[in-house]
Amino acid sequence: MAELTHRSCGSTKTGLQVVEDESTVLEQAFYDDIEYKVRVYVRMALGHGQNRECMDDMYAFIDQLIEQLNADQNPPLDVACQAGCSWCCHLKVEVTQFEVFRIAAFLIETLNEKELEDITKKVISTDLLRRSEEVSEAEHSVPCALLSDGQCKIYPARPLKCRGGNSTDADTCKAYFETGEDGLLSISAPQLLSANSVQDGLAAGTSDVCDKRERSELMAMLGEVLMNPDTIQEWVDDGPSFEGEDGDED
Ligand code: SF4
Repeated sequence: MAELTHRSCGSTKTGLQVVEDESTVLEQAFYDDIEYKVRVYVRMALGHGQNRECMDDMYAFIDQLIEQLNADQNPPLDVACQAGCSWCCHLKVEVTQFEVFRIAAFLIETLNEKELEDITKKVISTDLLRRSEEVSEAEHSVPCALLSDGQCKIYPARPLKCRGGNSTDADTCKAYFETGEDGLLSISAPQLLSANSVQDGLAAGTSDVCDKRERSELMAMLGEVLMNPDTIQEWVDDGPSFEGEDGDED
């Protein structure tokens, strides 16, 4: 299988506003190149029946890319995100189906039966709460069901948008949490746009080889998947509905 590397290295999480300045704007070709490479890689990985390896490679790729982007900035980006800070974990997160299956597989591997049952209920109730009219005005303040004591319970398997939403000022995240006013967040553009490009490439590559192409909000899609554990095992085992064929490169 080809190695996924990058040369030098919109928005949702819903509510995230990309803040650009002259020093952080990168050419669109940079993001197009990421999307293309990811799409080709995903086609090959899924064509070889490597669902899980594919997702783990996506996560390793975006983590390395973000690290490199931060280091490449001069002066290096001062990332405000740190363990225990979770203001942004109250925003909706857009995910692809393969990200959700990876999260579900992680939960099954790390939780006992009772814990899995509890988290499934919590995910479903959070989804319902966020959809309810009473909180529609304050949806930015409903915590993700995967947040526990200020920590992400699925940190190694967290979605692409969570990896790319790096803040340069935690005070702006807190202000958005408290008011929901647009334009408050200070999110680094290259990191978030790179994560978006990886997700676009993942969605396109998946669509090329199997029917798992939908994107949705994390709580909504995770609740559905957790209610159908057979599909999770099928994904882990590269079962029939996830099998693909080698795609031709564009
Ligand atoms: S998945 Fe983890 S990082 Fe993402 S919003 Fe939920 S708790 Fe936060």
